[in-house]
Order: sequence, then C-alpha cells, then structure tokens
Amino acid sequence: MAELERKHGGTPVPTEWTYAPAPESRDIVSIRDRYGLYVGGEWIDPRSGKTFATIDPSTEEPLAEIAQAGPEDVSLAVAAAREAFENGWSALAPSERAKYLFRIARILQERSREFAVLESLNGGKPIRESRDVDLPLSAAHFFYYAGWADKLEYAFPNRQPQPVGVAGQIIPWNFPLLMLAWKIAPALAAGDTVVLKPAETTPLTALLFCDVLRQAELPPGVVNIVTGDGSTGAALVDAGVDKIAFTGSTEVGKAIQRRLAGTGKKLTLELGGKAANIVFDDAALDQAVEGIVNGIYFNQGHVCCAGSRLFVQESIYEPLVAKLERRLTTLRVGDPLDKNTDVGAINSAAQLEKIQELVASGVEEGAEIYQPPCVLPEKGYWFAPTVFTNVAQSYRIAQEEIFGPVLSVLTFRTPEEAVEKANNTPYGLSAGVWTEKGSRILWMAQRLRAGVV
Ligand code: ADP
Repeated sequence: MAELERKHGGTPVPTEWTYAPAPESRDIVSIRDRYGLYVGGEWIDPRSGKTFATIDPSTEEPLAEIAQAGPEDVSLAVAAAREAFENGWSALAPSERAKYLFRIARILQERSREFAVLESLNGGKPIRESRDVDLPLSAAHFFYYAGWADKLEYAFPNRQPQPVGVAGQIIPWNFPLLMLAWKIAPALAAGDTVVLKPAETTPLTALLFCDVLRQAELPPGVVNIVTGDGSTGAALVDAGVDKIAFTGSTEVGKAIQRRLAGTGKKLTLELGGKAANIVFDDAALDQAVEGIVNGIYFNQGHVCCAGSRLFVQESIYEPLVAKLERRLTTLRVGDPLDKNTDVGAINSAAQLEKIQELVASGVEEGAEIYQPPCVLPEKGYWFAPTVFTNVAQSYRIAQEEIFGPVLSVLTFRTPEEAVEKANNTPYGLSAGVWTEKGSRILWMAQRLRAGVV
C-alpha cells in the first residue's frame, strides 16, 4: 500500500493497491574483502596466486575477491582430506559422526537468515525462496543424514557398508548451499571426507559454511572447500580422490565420465533436464496453472527438473494459455532481497546470454513469444518470464535445456500422443501429469521415461 488517503474523516484507505518495497536488510551478513581456501580446518592463500571477483548479479557490484585454486591447491586439500580420513574420521563411531551432522544442522537453522540473505545476494534468487526453501531444506538434509549415520547397516543389510574414502564434490550455482548439503551430509554420514568445489559464480555461502564447521568443531580436514572455475573442478577430477560427485551440465558431466573411465574412481552424476508438464482436459485448470508457474518460474527456471515443456490437451489449450498469461502478469520481477519478489536476477552474464540466444532461436524458428509487461532493473542480469506458444517439437526451445524462466507450450490430443511427445527428448529427470483421473496418472507414469513423475 503505497499511498493512504483520508476519506470522510475515517481511517485512511489506500489510493493504490500495488506492493510497497519490503527489502530484507543485508546488515546481518558480513562479507570479507577476500577469501582464501579452506584446507585442513585453516584458511590458506592459494598457491596459484590467482583470485577473481564474485558479484551480486542483481547489481553487478563486486562482493568479494575469491581464490582461484590451481592443481597444487587442490592436491593440498585432497591430502588434508586423506589424512583426516585415515587418522580418525573413518574409524569414528557412527553415532559420533551423527553428532557433528546434528550440530551443523542446528547451527544452519540458527544462522538461517544470514545464510538466506547471502544466498540471495550472491546468486540473485528471491529472498522468499532462499529463506523458505534453500535454508530449511539444507538444515533438513543435515538432520536427515545425521539420522542415517548409525543405521547404514539397516539400509544395506548384510553388506557391511564401508566408506569410500575422499570424495571430490563439484556443485552448480542454482542452489549453492542446498547442493553443498546434498553432497556433504551423506558423505560425512557414511564416514567419507570431502573436498568440495562450489560454482565460480556462487562461492559465498560455501565459504560462510566453513564458519559453521568451526562452530561445530568438526575435526580439521574432514571438509575442505576449494574455490575456482571449471579448471579447478577438472583438477579435482584428476586429483587423488576416490570418488567424484558432480551436479551440473550434461556436457561437463560427460567430459568427467570420459576422464574417469578406467581409473577405478567412483562417480555419481546429476545432469540436465527438459521436463514435460502434461495437462489433460479434465484437470483443475487453476491448480494446474499454479503448478506450471512453480515448475518453470521458481528460481528463475534455474532448476534441473524445471517443467520447461508444457503439453496441453488441445481442447483446453486456449483457456489454459489465457489463464497462464494472466497469472504471469502478477509475477513480480526485481530486487532479490525484496520479500515480495517472485522472480529474481539471472545468475550470471553468461547464463543470461545463453537464455537470450535460445529465446532468439525460438522467435526465429517461428514460435510466438509472450512476456508480461514488467520493468526490468537497468543494472544486473534480468529476463522477463516468457511463454512460447506455437512451438514445434523440433525447435531448439523444445529440445535444449534453457535453464531460465522460459516455457515452451505444445499440444496433444490423446494420452498416447502426450507420452510420445514427452518422451521425445534425450533427458529423463522428471515429468508432471495433471488430470483428475487416477488410472490415467498411473498409465502415464508407467510410460513416461523420467526418473520422477
Ligand atoms: P552450468 O552450465 O550449470 O554452469 P557447469 O557444468 O558448467 O554447469 O558447472 C557446474 C560445476 O562444474 C561448476 O562448479 C563448474 O565450475 C564445474 N566445472 C565446469 N567445467 C568443469 C570441468 N571440465 N571439470 C570439472 N568441473 C567443471
């Protein structure tokens, strides 16, 4: 409520019903000018001598100078993790390992506002999401795996689960702290030690997490954080680790797979997606629209399992698209630290360029573009929520992962056609089905080639 007007001498009433700014204060976060590498429980300067700036993507303002770890730095971190593995951590009673995980979870909860603000500052995501999604889920992950640490034998009966050793972990920028939690919590619960490399555009919450490790009194070397770009990641893949856990793009995942073939190192990959959201004509349309909006505009579409392809049954195509476009006009795009913001900044200039290039290809190939009227800030990296209609399956926007707030709408007539079109992709992370009919949900779920439906 921006303006209040006093009418007939009564309580003032608003003259305008737009949202007033509701910025979250950034005072709770203190960012250092520069950060070293966190190795063996200590901050060390990079032997490489190199650093780079990390910025706020919503303003392009530099936030801190970050160490660019070279191969020598990565080796030091792996040696620290090896020593911690051999001299204590792997032999620690599982209930003791759980104790550290519980502590980390508790501290994350206590410092969650600080972490949420930092996550939004460095990554561009709305504070509402970092506060209500990234942080609670990160803490929940540590709680969850704390519970597993002393129950692994029940999970794998008669298999006597053993730790693998030193895990090299490489994570992306879309959920920086949450991806860290996904990687570190299970490794520690299993008795492994870790060298983690955050993404080059979003290192700050991983670096703040080192302070949580200090508070939790985790033994030195159990978790080491090395910052840097893809070359640091490549050095970690080649270093003396026992396992690589990678989340990121399909191309880099494939390159890592080739690199590790025949080395005996274990590997887990979590790569891209082009998920189908399928809406049948008996679905509750308003509910489906909310699901579609969450599926593709949440976190600016920077989500591996984002529902980036929408398949609509022909008979409801027009009302559904009309509802969707109307809903888009209510999304608020802007300052990530404003508690009213729905869509924040695009994570980096490179990602914005990639989105712009794919969107241009969609227009060129003949799709119809809709973007709601919204004023984008002048500085920073921004992209308006976008819907493409008239999309053919062969268009690049229907085939390639855009990883931005861009939805491609296609149509189908029969369930068989929906399955065939939805499966016409090399990806298979996830899919969604909207219908009132339970048997059809099961029928579809059996035929959709996706890990999660
Ligand atoms: P995105 O397209 O989401 O940025 P990337 O796969 O490029 O995904 O990045 C995910 C993570 O992988 C980042 O931490 C990045 O620095 C790292 N990375 C990039 N290239 C390589 C590589 N050749 N080897 C190992 N890690 C890499």
